[in-house]
Amino acid sequence: MVTTDVHARVAVRDDLRALAGYHSAQVDVDVRLNTNESPYPPPDSWRSELAAELANIDWHRYPDRNAAELRRAIAVWHGVEAAQVFAANGSNEVLQTVLLAYAGAGRTVATFEPTYQLHAHIARLTGATVVSGERAPDFRLDVSEIDRIVDACEPSVTFLCSPNNPTGLVEPRANVDRLLSTSAGLVVVDEAYAQFADWTALDLVEEAVPLAVVRTFSKTWSMAAARLGYLIAPSWVVAELDEVVLPYHLDAVTQLAGRLALRHIDEMGERVAHIVAERERVARNLGSLEVTVVPSGANFILFRALDRRGDAVWQGLVERGVLVRDCSSWRRLDGCLRVTIGTPDENDRFLAALADVLADAGGSAR
Ligand SMILES: *Cc1c(COP(=O)(O)O)cnc(C)c1O
Repeated sequence: MVTTDVHARVAVRDDLRALAGYHSAQVDVDVRLNTNESPYPPPDSWRSELAAELANIDWHRYPDRNAAELRRAIAVWHGVEAAQVFAANGSNEVLQTVLLAYAGAGRTVATFEPTYQLHAHIARLTGATVVSGERAPDFRLDVSEIDRIVDACEPSVTFLCSPNNPTGLVEPRANVDRLLSTSAGLVVVDEAYAQFADWTALDLVEEAVPLAVVRTFSKTWSMAAARLGYLIAPSWVVAELDEVVLPYHLDAVTQLAGRLALRHIDEMGERVAHIVAERERVARNLGSLEVTVVPSGANFILFRALDRRGDAVWQGLVERGVLVRDCSSWRRLDGCLRVTIGTPDENDRFLAALADVLADAGGSAR
């Protein structure tokens, strides 16, 4: 077979063959609460501003390589220097650029599991060795585990995720402080969901502190389709990232979309407050069902059905038109499902569907 021969000869890197990609099951149902997006589209005024400004783009020219106006707008919003801001195509490209610059072959990257799978995945793509610290059974991270990993592995990059995906738990400030005081490497706090939580590591960023905080426009900002994320870090970190990233990686439309979004900070703040209120309502209602709920500071909730198979509960929800994320086959997340907070109507449909699945005592979910 010719194609097989060619395939064997033109082989992918040996170290990549063992890696599984990152996938989220997509099923065509009415209520999609599986990928932590905003349930609402961006404001209408943002749409019309973007449409109007698109007419002024110099399409025959490369975009501003430094995304200077966008960086300045982000810097003003967070009260930092523009030189402390790096922007890229989604926070995933930010993470990749950080790992290309600070990880790579011969270096070690530390994560504390369970957490966002892409941290370890991208680290391995760069050729780095990944060491996985363990969270306690309630998913909290003990300081002694931080010390153990830092002492044993001397990681070049250590990730925390706050609020943590998929658990929803907010990382206590003490854990970030501990890492910063013990690790010689870069500490990266992924804050994709920080706006839904009550504290942020942004205030800890200083020129003399090896801390990078990563944010995204994909969740709160209702802009998952645009692919825009950023990082706040000491300017010497940002300068290294600028060396590593591809020239002109951030196109003119994305830069524009982000700049215009930052004119709508108040409206986005109101939406965050609304989603947080819905999250608390959903958590309260889950509390009256036969599930255990992990306290969430994000726009999603992780829960575990008591005495049920997680995949069967997931299937029961799909049959009732509701799609959530099935985490039950992931290591350390036995029986767990993750639901994104949607519109009040979507949340009601989820709660009703779940109550129905759990009441179906003779059904397949037992
Ligand atoms: C959703 C998510 C991101 C966002 O990735 P983008 O590339 O910005 O869409 C980053 N980190 C975590 C933990 C997430 O859950």
